[in-house]
Amino acid sequence: MKDFCIVGSGIAGSTIANLLSKKYSVEIFDKARGPGGRASNRRYKANESFDHGLQYVSPRSKEFKKFIISLKKKKIITEWPGNHIDLTFKKKNHTIKYIGTKSNNDFSKHLINKIQSNYLSEVTNIEFNSKFWVITLNNKDKVYFKNIVLTCPFPQLSKLSSKYLDKKILNLKLKMIPNITVMVAYKNYKQIPVSSIKFNDQTIAWASHENSKNRFRSNQSLWTIQCTERFSKKIINLFKKEKKKYQGLILKKFEELTGYQIKNIAFQNIHGWKYAYNKINTGVPSVWYGKKKLGVCADWFMGSKAEDSWLSANSLYKEIKKNPPK
Ligand SMILES: Cc1cc2nc3c(=O)[nH]c(=O)nc-3n(C[C@H](O)[C@H](O)[C@H](O)COP(=O)(O)OP(=O)(O)OC[C@H]3O[C@@H](n4cnc5c(N)ncnc54)[C@H](O)[C@@H]3O)c2cc1C
Repeated sequence: MKDFCIVGSGIAGSTIANLLSKKYSVEIFDKARGPGGRASNRRYKANESFDHGLQYVSPRSKEFKKFIISLKKKKIITEWPGNHIDLTFKKKNHTIKYIGTKSNNDFSKHLINKIQSNYLSEVTNIEFNSKFWVITLNNKDKVYFKNIVLTCPFPQLSKLSSKYLDKKILNLKLKMIPNITVMVAYKNYKQIPVSSIKFNDQTIAWASHENSKNRFRSNQSLWTIQCTERFSKKIINLFKKEKKKYQGLILKKFEELTGYQIKNIAFQNIHGWKYAYNKINTGVPSVWYGKKKLGVCADWFMGSKAEDSWLSANSLYKEIKKNPPK
């Protein structure tokens, strides 16, 4: 029986899996098609793709900066240069934006490249029998592990494990906010020297020019468009039934804001992140219940960024080292 089952291969899951694998046997299960979680990438054709979740990281803490620089030296990540236009004209310090060299799930891919990882493997139930964990997967298979670490967004975590969590965690005051993202490729335009645009608009908050990331050459212009919080909240439970309508509405708005015309669209797709961000720092960085052999780490403990996932995973690792499983 392996030591640790890690549920989730996002930044938190891949970081804790990587740290634990130095001492323990570890295996990952993720319900998605591939690694990265909310830092995942959607392929369009050949090497052309959209980062439809996490856009970039700009480290705040010393520890995370050190980690990011180490990845940059290994060429796993790179700087995202160019013109990042802010049409809200809010005064902000210039920060360096780091992206994956090939895609934004390079962070996770690199951390777990030597760890057995299972995709399209949703954990549907977990039971602790006082010695080990019995984990049921979506295909009804059962797998057995000595310890488990959960890294899901808070609503999914409480659904899966509420009977094993204490009130301190279950009563945390946090709110996960949705985000609607549209991926679009336009033909018949010359490439423009713009990397991203922050809009002052009710529908569209931000757009990223995928061609500016120097990962591919294309005669099409690829954009990832993120909607505002207000608009995303309004349509998150509606858009799946009327994809064409909402996609059309967002792309019409993008045409008004930028001049990219709907008639020149070669590809379009819409994605809804139901649990995109938590804006509130809960004051708890992670959880390790030594007796129950259960750990939890994720971004939402500390904020809304990939850095928060990484810090949470590192905090959990420290707790496990202090109180190791017997
Ligand atoms: C649109 C968008 C834009 C963003 N932009 C930025 C940005 O520019 N910069 C930044 O720093 N952060 C950004 N973020 C936030 C960043 O993406 C997250 O903070 C970070 O990726 C979260 O990582 P995580 O590992 O904590 O969680 P996740 O990435 O959500 O990982 C959880 C994983 O668990 C899996 N899972 C859940 N339940 C189960 C189950 N029952 N069984 C198996 N697997 C399960 C999921 O499939 C997922 O892979 C953005 C997020 C979104 C949605």
